[in-house]
Formats: sequence, C-alpha cells, structure tokens
Amino acid sequence: MTNGSNEKLDRRGFMIGSMATVGGAATLLATSTQAQTATTSASTTATATKGTVFTGDVIDGKRVISALDVSDLEPGKKHSFYFQGVGMPTGQHWYVAVMVAKGASPGKRLGLISGVHGDEMSPIHMIQSVMNALDPAAMSGTVIAVFDVSRPAVESMARRWPNSGRGIDLIDINRLFPGNENAPDAPTRHAGLVFNRLLKPNLDYGLDFHTAATGMDATAFHLARMDLPEVRVMAELYPIDQIFDNAAYPGLLANALIDAGIPALTPEIGRPRILDHEMIGLFVEGTMNVIKHHGILSGPMGRTGKDSGVLVADAMFPVIATHGGFVELLVELNQAVKAGQKLAIQRNTFGEIVAEYTAPRDGEIGARRTDATAEPGTPILFALFDSATPSGGDVIVE
Ligand SMILES: [Zn+2]
Repeated sequence: MTNGSNEKLDRRGFMIGSMATVGGAATLLATSTQAQTATTSASTTATATKGTVFTGDVIDGKRVISALDVSDLEPGKKHSFYFQGVGMPTGQHWYVAVMVAKGASPGKRLGLISGVHGDEMSPIHMIQSVMNALDPAAMSGTVIAVFDVSRPAVESMARRWPNSGRGIDLIDINRLFPGNENAPDAPTRHAGLVFNRLLKPNLDYGLDFHTAATGMDATAFHLARMDLPEVRVMAELYPIDQIFDNAAYPGLLANALIDAGIPALTPEIGRPRILDHEMIGLFVEGTMNVIKHHGILSGPMGRTGKDSGVLVADAMFPVIATHGGFVELLVELNQAVKAGQKLAIQRNTFGEIVAEYTAPRDGEIGARRTDATAEPGTPILFALFDSATPSGGDVIVE
C-alpha cells in the first residue's frame, strides 16, 4: 500500500534514478575489480548470459556469485548462493540469498521473488516452503528463488531501502526497476545488478511476492495485468480472494520483467511483518499450480481462483482520512459495501467524533488500516469495484 505523500517521494527517487550518465559507466570501468563485470557494464550487454560468475568468496558456507546463469549449474540439484549486490558505505556488499532448484530435465524457468520491500515477511516463508517441497530430480525446468532483494530494508523490517548518500533517504526500490548499474545512487544500482545479472537472463516467468505496507492489512490478492494472457493464466491459478487488474507504476519489478518479455505479476500475501501461515498456504498451493502449469512438475492441480470465487476488478477506491485522530473501522476485509454505507468513524483525543466515512460507491473491501491512528491524507480503506471505465490506478496497492 502507499499513499499520496509516499508517491511524491517515490517519484523524486525515480527521477534521481534516471539521471545516469556516461560518466557513471566510466567510473564503473575504473573501479571494477573484475574484468568480466567491467566489460558488461553497459545495460545492453549485461543481460547476456555469460556463465555464472563466482567471486571466490564463501559466506557462511554459501558461495558468492556476481552473476547467475542457471544453464551452467548441475541438473537435478538445489544450489544456494549469495548474490553480490551493491556495495555498502563501509565497503562490503549487500548480499542477496538465492536458491536454484534445477530440474533433471530442461524446461521452463520460473522466478520467485520476495523482499523487494523489507517489511513483508510472509512472502519469504512462502517461497521457502515451495523450495522445500521441490524435488529437482523430478523436475523438468528450473525454479529460481530470490529471498531478500532489498537486503538492508529486510534487516530493519522496513519497506524502503535506507540510502545514505545524502544522509538517510528511504528509497522504495519497487519504483526503480529495471534499475541502472551506473546510477548516482546505490539502490538504483542494486536494482540494476539484481535485474541484469540474476533475473532477466534466467527467467521465463516471474512472480514478485509482496504484502500490504506496515499499518495496513489486505486480503489474499494479486496486482496483475489481466490483459496479458500469460499473466492472466498464472494469476487465476491461485485460490485467493481478489485480483486487482491494474498496471500500477512503471518502475514496478513485475512491469520491468514484462517489458523485458517475461510475463510477471505481483501476488500479495496479506499483512506485513508477520508470518500468516493460513494465507501462506493459499499462495504455496497457487505457486505449485503455476509450476505444474509450466510443466516443471507433473501432478494434479490444487485449488484455483475458480474454487475460491476470486473477484477480478479493474478499479479501486480509497477512503482517505480527512482529519487526524483515532479510526474505528466498521467493515471487514472482503466485505461487500454499498454506496452511502458508513465505513469508519474517527475521534479526536477527547473522544469527540471528528469525521465519519461512507462508501462513495459499491465495492468489496480489499485492504484496511491496522494502526489505530491516521493523519489527514492517510488511506484507511481500499475497496475494489469493476468499472467499464477503469480509474487509471491513481491509488495502488503493493
Ligand atoms: Zn510490497
């Protein structure tokens, strides 16, 4: 989830990320310690698969790589690595945990991604569960898991990357993809490294798992481009509540993958900061369905969106706090609401009612605030509705 003020910051971050210059490339060439990375610094060539690059380092028993090419890994096995991301201010690197389940036979390559936002825990556990369930000896194809893309954000269980270039700036890395290895800021470079050296060369399909943002709860849902048939078929394989059919922001990882020819979507596993095991189970079931759909594993399908009666909607209305104060919500997740229905009451510190919120139209609640207070401008509810004229997505959830 995000709101208007976040979006202003996000756009600023995006502009900073777009200011890459030729000089940046020269700097990278001058400072790179590896001939191979130096010669692939241009974004046009970095995506070519040139083999997995081992730095020679081993951390906690895991070999460190600076580029992944799953085609040169031993088949029928699981492989675990630390991917060397962008450098830290103190000179070491942010390492990202990567696991590859490479089937005994060739086939489709599916990417499972989490930790793009650092306060979203259920996705990490969901992917761990899927990877544990996979037997590479029985697989035709490859599943690539990237657990903690925004590593410093995960370390502090925060949505955004704490960039220290100008004093701490909190950067939403899910507005920066496909990134830029020569950008004048570390998170955009990190996004570029992950995109160019881990994801783009190795994926045929991508699933970037998220949750609601801190302070909000959400249903089991997807943010997905349902106009794209290969995205739609994956989205519909999950036994979840809701699908928001919307393109969202240009810098979203799922959109950058789509732009690179890799069908992708953004599944959302409920509430941030916790492990929601019931909801995790739904997404494990759906992800195993996707793996079977692509022929990586054989076996019967689990439950899908048909079984859960998933709501597919192309529009969303937010209920935005007009005042500061304590919010009492009168509706639950997945509840159908009618135009004019009272949704929430807000009181000041004296207990006096300062605002009452009603539904501007019919809809079904997709997300609700969990923090008890809200200041003016904070979204306290989102509801999905289907519209012949989609709203264009001025309010987005991921
Ligand atoms: Zn997120």
